[in-house]
Parts: sequence; C-alpha cells; structure tokens
Amino acid sequence: MEQNKIPQATAKRLPLYYRFLNNLFQQGKKRVSSGELSEAVKVDSATIRRDFSYFGALGKKGYGYNVEYLLGFFRKTLDQDEVTEVALIGVGNLGTAFLHYNFMKNNNTKIVMAFEANAEKAGTDIGGVPIYHIDELEERMQGVSVAILTVPATEAQNITNRLTDYGVSGILNFTPARITVPERVRVHHIDLAVELQSLVYFLKHYPLD
Ligand code: ATP
Repeated sequence: MEQNKIPQATAKRLPLYYRFLNNLFQQGKKRVSSGELSEAVKVDSATIRRDFSYFGALGKKGYGYNVEYLLGFFRKTLDQDEVTEVALIGVGNLGTAFLHYNFMKNNNTKIVMAFEANAEKAGTDIGGVPIYHIDELEERMQGVSVAILTVPATEAQNITNRLTDYGVSGILNFTPARITVPERVRVHHIDLAVELQSLVYFLKHYPLD
C-alpha cells in the first residue's frame, strides 16, 4: 500500500495538514506556498517540503502547492471518505465532554456508542450517543474497532483486556495508567495532567524569551 511508504513522523502530521488545507479550500484558495503552510501549522518549511514530496506533491517555485491535489491525496490517505466508528468507555467528566464534542467537524471519526458501569447513566444518551452498561460491551460493539478510554486508572487494564479480547485494534488511552496490549493493537496515550505539568516545567526551565 502507498501509505506504508510514508514515515511515521510524516503520517502524524497528516491530519494537521489536512485540516489547514481543507480550510483553504473552503475559502476558495487554489494554491499555497510552503512558507504560508509553515506559518499556519507551525512546522518548518524544509520539513513540509520533505513531507509533501512523499505525497508526490512537488511544489513549484513561485507557485506553491496545488490545494485541491493535496486535499484529494489526504482524503484518500486518511480514509476521509469512510467514517470510522469509535466507542467510548467511561462516561465521567472527560467522557461526557467527548460525547458532546463534534469530532466530525474536522475529521471523519464518530463516537457511535458509550459504555458505563454506573447503572443510572446506562440506558440514557448524550448528544444522541447511546450509553450502554459495561456488561453489554461485547454484545454491543458490532465490529467497532477503535475505543476511547476514559475510565478511572484502576479500571484501565481490565477494560483494555476486554476490548482487545473482543478484537479492537486501536485504543486512545486518556487514563494515567500505562496499559499492556497484544502486539497487534495500537495504543496512543494522552495523559492531560502530564502534558500540562510538562508545559509548566518547560516554561520554567526553558523559557522562550
Ligand atoms: P465523575 O465526576 O463522573 O466521577 P470522572 O471522570 O472524574 O467523572 P472517573 O472516576 O475518572 O470519574 O470515572 C470515569 C467514569 O468511568 C465514571 O462515570 C465511572 O462511573 C466510569 N467507570 C468506572 N468504572 C468503570 C468500568 N469498569 N467500566 C465502565 N465505566 C466505568
């Protein structure tokens, strides 16, 4: 597959490029220079040029990149024509916020169901997303292969085991717990408290001015 040739670091920047180019396209812009892109997405222009060369997009001097061509490429590569369904586990403060958040605005992923241990929350819905009891996980998943984890840290591994036994292939882990998964499963970990702490540390020890 074409995608396999793109280095992982480049692949990670794809959604960022996609979002910006989509905005440009909506505004009716036909082309964009690597300088403009660099300014907007905060990636240096040498990196952008190298990234884009993997996409078969060679910018012309004094012309820049063709917005429509790039968008077409990103849409194909990011599977934007296909909606990826996602399940959310743990409808607490963070989980509730995600259910209200419209991920579809910028990309084609959609939370289609949520699971909760609290019987009072099960059977309700938030923003049109049904909340089921966690006991019903396996019977309700219906082929959903991506999950967002917003349960307490103590529950993270147990729920992860159930998800991977079911056959989930990707987990976005928002709990502070480091989870163990089989090799075929990809985990991305976002620990908001650690990110915030790290920002504050960097501000203190590596001030920008
Ligand atoms: P809240 O104020 O609602 O407790 P929170 O995000 O601070 O929000 P957490 O203790 O992190 O709460 O739990 C997140 C959610 O995960 C809660 O709604 C909790 O009921 C739910 N939860 C706990 N254990 C499980 C489990 N095993 N399976 C599914 N959901 C669970």
